[in-house]
Amino acid sequence: MSRPLRLTLLGATGSIGQSTLDVVARHPERYEVFALTAFQRVDALADLCRRFQPAYAVVASEVDGTRLRSLLEGSRTTVLHGTEALVAVAADAEVDVVMAAIVGAAGLLPTLAAVNAGKRVLLANKEALVMSGGLFMDALARSNATLLPIDSEHNAIFQCLPGGYRCGEAAVGVEQLLLTASGGPFRSWTLESMRSATPAQAVKHPKWIMGRKISVDSASLMNKGLELIEACWLFGLGPDRIRVVIHPESIVHSLVQYEDGSTLAQLGNPDMRTPIALGLAWPDRIAAGVGTLDLVAAGALHFEAPDEVRFPCLRLAREAFRQGGCAPAMLNAANEIAVAAFLDEKLAFTDIPQVIERTLTELPMMAAEGLPTILEADRIAREHATRLLATLH
Ligand code: NDP
Ligand code: MG
Repeated sequence: MSRPLRLTLLGATGSIGQSTLDVVARHPERYEVFALTAFQRVDALADLCRRFQPAYAVVASEVDGTRLRSLLEGSRTTVLHGTEALVAVAADAEVDVVMAAIVGAAGLLPTLAAVNAGKRVLLANKEALVMSGGLFMDALARSNATLLPIDSEHNAIFQCLPGGYRCGEAAVGVEQLLLTASGGPFRSWTLESMRSATPAQAVKHPKWIMGRKISVDSASLMNKGLELIEACWLFGLGPDRIRVVIHPESIVHSLVQYEDGSTLAQLGNPDMRTPIALGLAWPDRIAAGVGTLDLVAAGALHFEAPDEVRFPCLRLAREAFRQGGCAPAMLNAANEIAVAAFLDEKLAFTDIPQVIERTLTELPMMAAEGLPTILEADRIAREHATRLLATLH
């Protein structure tokens, strides 16, 4: 094999970041860490830098940068801070692969920079694609970048599409996609009991261990709503050809139904190291540290339709995609504000969809004319959602 691939890991201290480094550490001959980034968990990032010896480490603020520099005194790692530094390490000419694993809108600029610079981009940061959809896919089509979905459902669909398929192309012979969802911790709760759900209950996902924001999104089904939009862009299909199916065991990660009546699925234990390893090594397969699926031990697999009355976020996301323009960016922004307020115990769980729906209906719609407009829509929606919090508390 040729030289190791150089990796920039955006969001190294997060759940996807940790799983990525776990896979990378199993294959030192294949991968070399070029840059690791975090927001503010400086000590955790310092530990990772000592272990993986990246050329660069990036944090958000100058103060944290100074602290990290002193923690890494004498090491080979150069410490940088701020969004421009994130963009620089994502687009650096020395980098081959960028794992986009920052949570939320903060990941948009470095992820887009990696696409524009023609990298192999492993996309976990679904919010970046949801916000900028058409613009993101146009950048992909214009660049030499390869986009590989890391979200387990999209990774499963990618694996079930014909060999040689590239994200952004219309897949031939596909009738519809089935996006599976665990249903989250409140799958069988009444609306009334969800009203008093606590952050601790919401982040206790039955099958996956993930960051706090995506865990709340899984509980509200907004995660599936964002994934529906993500799938529309990645696979070039309308929302009418993507069905969400609740599958509490989280073993079938998603399915593709072809016009000839075939349904192909990808199965595995629920562990993000599988899609991460596929993204890192594609088209090869490498060991990911994930145990072989034991179907006999798994026993029965169940599937049911989602309940959009108890979980309105799915409908809101579908409507935002259909509305187009900046609506998905505003949906995402309002959701980020509402989820943060819920985690801070300043908003009831069942008011999350209210904040989102009111933000989308009370603000004028904006066409997604370019990145500045999308960022402006994101800002306006955050402000409006923040104002709504005061009326709902
Ligand atoms: P975590 O919250 O665990 O980690 C988020 C990472 O992003 C951390 O490294 C954090 O740094 C960094 N970060 C947070 N805010 C900022 C910011 N404003 N600027 C720069 N960096 C920031 O999230 P997850 O790993 O769970 O999720 C990451 C992304 O992957 C999300 O978009 C999520 O939807 C997606 N995803 C996650 C899955 C999972 O299993 N976890 C599954 C499928 C998709 P710090 O630690 O310093 O705060
Ligand atoms: Mg997913």
